Amino acid sequence: MDAIALTRTLLQFDTVNPPGRERDCARHAGAMLEQWGYKVEYHEYADRRTSVIARAGGREEKAPLCLTGHLDVVPLGTRKWAHDPFSGETAGDRLYGRGSSDMKAGVAAILVAARSMADKLPGTPGVVIVLTAAEEGGCIGSKKLAETQLLGRAGAIVVGEPTSNYPLVGHKGSIKFHASFRGVSAHGSMPQLGENAVYKAARAVAKLEAFDFKAKKHPIMGEPTLNVGTFEGGSGVNLVPDLAKIGVDIRTVPGVDHKKVLQRIKQLLGKAEMDVFSDLPPVWTAPDDEWIERVFEICKPVLGRKAKPRAATYMTDAANLLKVYAGAPTVVLGPGEAQMAHQTDEYCSMERIGEAVALYEALIADWIKN
Ligand SMILES: [Zn+2]
Repeated sequence: MDAIALTRTLLQFDTVNPPGRERDCARHAGAMLEQWGYKVEYHEYADRRTSVIARAGGREEKAPLCLTGHLDVVPLGTRKWAHDPFSGETAGDRLYGRGSSDMKAGVAAILVAARSMADKLPGTPGVVIVLTAAEEGGCIGSKKLAETQLLGRAGAIVVGEPTSNYPLVGHKGSIKFHASFRGVSAHGSMPQLGENAVYKAARAVAKLEAFDFKAKKHPIMGEPTLNVGTFEGGSGVNLVPDLAKIGVDIRTVPGVDHKKVLQRIKQLLGKAEMDVFSDLPPVWTAPDDEWIERVFEICKPVLGRKAKPRAATYMTDAANLLKVYAGAPTVVLGPGEAQMAHQTDEYCSMERIGEAVALYEALIADWIKN
């Protein structure tokens, strides 16, 4: 089965998250890897939320190359699709389906490269394939995986997220939190008897708007950002609201200390209750890293020129995997089209899927030769 046919097969598993249900897709991929001689383990952090870890080769002196992708996809959205999202319809060079670009084509390309290189791996540093559940909406699957011993080690990471086969050397980090402000309810005609939670939240929002990270601008990723995305409060126009809640999304760059940022924000919010539900560091490998230079070289024929250092706009599982694979140079490189991710009538270029297989094979070959 080639990578296009395999992408189609993967598209047919409904892994829309929520609810996720990656198990069947994960078992299918795992069974194939086992057939090709990989040692396969599964991790289920919740019912049917299954990740796959598969290894082949392995040598004491040098850790394996990690190739990783996620199995879940985002919901279909409210707009009607012209193409069936789960059957892998094609038109011209386009392969349609939810998750075609983000990122079942990437997973299929990783799997096909894993198959074609399997015979060459024994006695070499080898590879570790990590296919995660629950990446969309907070990288929960990889977060749980990084708390186990299952990941073992890896010397470098290739994340097959959609980049149109352009190698990206990192992405911003993120902190997401809710803050709740309490007040005292009273009749709207006698606000002096109450304590208005919306006023408290509004004052905090104004301070957040003016928040200064005091961070140095990153040469590629630029400045960290902060956005107040939600604001809720009050239950009736004639009541003094006793509760208001905001949702905040912070994107960080290398050099920003998440702990310090959170401390400063906590101070700024005063008595508000803060619930940090996502905290992922930025991912960044210096473009002059020796392995990254080789990755750029390997990508050159496909791109027609040498890649320039660029970063992804989105988060990836690498933020969690690096907690275990500390210091491993990391590249985001996959056949999907980034602008197609999460869109109605999402598609992937079939030509790019074939290119990605060749790139992954070349990256594995390069890794195991020394
Ligand atoms: Zn993705």
